[in-house]
Amino acid sequence: MLGLMQSQPLLISSLIDFAQRHHGDVEIVSRRVEGDIHRYTWADVARRSRQLAHALDGMSLQFSDRVATLAWNGYRHLEMYFGVSGSGRVLHTINPRLHPEQIAWIANHAEDQVLCFDASFLPLVQAVHAKCPTIRQYVMLCDAGKLPEGTGIPNLVAYEDWIGGQPSDYQWPSFDENSASSMCYTSGTTGNPKAALYSHRSTTLHAYAAALPDVMNLSARDSVLPVVPMFHVNAWGIPYSAALTGCKLVFPGPALDGKSVYELIEAEGVTFAAGVPTVWQMLLGHMKPAGLRFSKLKRTVIGGSACPPAMIRAFQEDYGVDVLHAWGMTEMSPLGTLCTLKNKHLALPADEQMKIRLKQGRAIYGVDMKIVAEDGKELPWDGKTYGDLYVKGPWIVAEYFKGEGGDPLVDGWFPTGDVATIDAEGYMQITDRSKDVIKSGGEWISSIDVENIAVSHPAVAMAACVGMRHPKWDERPIVAVVKKPGAEVTREELLKFYEGKTAKWQIPDDVVFVEAIPLGATGKILKTRLREQLKDYKLPTA
Ligand code: ADP
Repeated sequence: MLGLMQSQPLLISSLIDFAQRHHGDVEIVSRRVEGDIHRYTWADVARRSRQLAHALDGMSLQFSDRVATLAWNGYRHLEMYFGVSGSGRVLHTINPRLHPEQIAWIANHAEDQVLCFDASFLPLVQAVHAKCPTIRQYVMLCDAGKLPEGTGIPNLVAYEDWIGGQPSDYQWPSFDENSASSMCYTSGTTGNPKAALYSHRSTTLHAYAAALPDVMNLSARDSVLPVVPMFHVNAWGIPYSAALTGCKLVFPGPALDGKSVYELIEAEGVTFAAGVPTVWQMLLGHMKPAGLRFSKLKRTVIGGSACPPAMIRAFQEDYGVDVLHAWGMTEMSPLGTLCTLKNKHLALPADEQMKIRLKQGRAIYGVDMKIVAEDGKELPWDGKTYGDLYVKGPWIVAEYFKGEGGDPLVDGWFPTGDVATIDAEGYMQITDRSKDVIKSGGEWISSIDVENIAVSHPAVAMAACVGMRHPKWDERPIVAVVKKPGAEVTREELLKFYEGKTAKWQIPDDVVFVEAIPLGATGKILKTRLREQLKDYKLPTA
């Protein structure tokens, strides 16, 4: 017997309809590429998304055709989130930090037909457009009449000219909720990039889940600053969850330096912010010497790579801001786990609570996880045994776009490529990417642990640990370190600093001081590049 409730597809258009009706006067604030601050409301987002949908119809774009963006976090990008997907097309957000060759490859693979870009990326588009034959319309996200002369880009129009004259009474179409809504390519550190193709259903379910109290705890009382880019995994789904809750949104545009982010947080009463550790490092680096405080910021979600304990402590103890450590990936829309305490933990002493907060957290309803041994056997949840982390759920990839890379699943589970422990309470902790874990004398050393200790030293700005071949132990860890400006620490002092903080055999064999550590397009340490840079390096202990 079937239930007798109404069947209504879960569509992204319903999110913007809701925000318009119930939170129409709530502000969306953006720092523009031009440097000024732009303000309007959810009602304006809804109106202009509809104008955009008309412009796409006017180009005879078909259902599921791809519309690409190369853009910062801002109001026009937000309109594309709703106008492109709402009208049945697929929003393809491209990461502008990728190499131009890779961008052209991705645009061709996705068969993008329209490319909308911020003025900052004009030189990039000039460099790639001749290699992108499927793109028939270029749109610069700028004011009417502000298109520069002689760009050499064919079929180029200013966004405001493009949507400006369009009617705002668009009727969103209804269709199967499993239809594709947006796509995002993984960084492709191994082989060609592969695309996760999200659906209206997966996106809407993820938006509900992300807003839950034990996840981002978003509400109509929040002012939310997504520093995580809208060009990678939909800014962790925040634009959708924001429409669903009716919170205020604050977009940083291209200005991600500590000063600009701090000013925006204070000026717009930001209560909740989301970003990767490197962004928060810049923010704290700006605030500390100037003795600045937050007046409204209550919580921040940090993920994308392991959040150093020193940062969690600094936010918590120095600024009274709760850090929610989060883990996920492109293939997971991206949220998998988030770290919040359970009722039974509230009575624990602060340092016991901190031990829990340092983990990547508990699974969100909708994400099943397990750890498995090399032979595929499930491993116990004891907080000690580590294994390959597998996940499944309705917002986790089933296949890559065009079947790139073959079937990604193993018995219906997606192997994440991460190595983790899970404790009896269900708190997961990432030990490493499986390709970064250091195998020393039959034991594994977590490069994340080695890095976390290094960055807790007051003179260290950034650290990256890699394994080096060793004749006796197979591999031994070394740590590459960037010193804070003006700070001093020697190799010997840093090695001594490890004593008592980790097992003796897990202390790195050497410290290499470097000017900078290579970062990838999503702000993560590029260990492959670091290993190349260190190819002539010889272990002192080998
Ligand atoms: P890519 O495009 O490189 O796959 P993703 O943004 O999808 O990038 O990155 C996913 C990976 O990032 C995870 O599999 C994990 O290794 C790492 N990661 C994400 N969040 C965390 C975290 N909180 N702690 C440690 N590693 C993390």
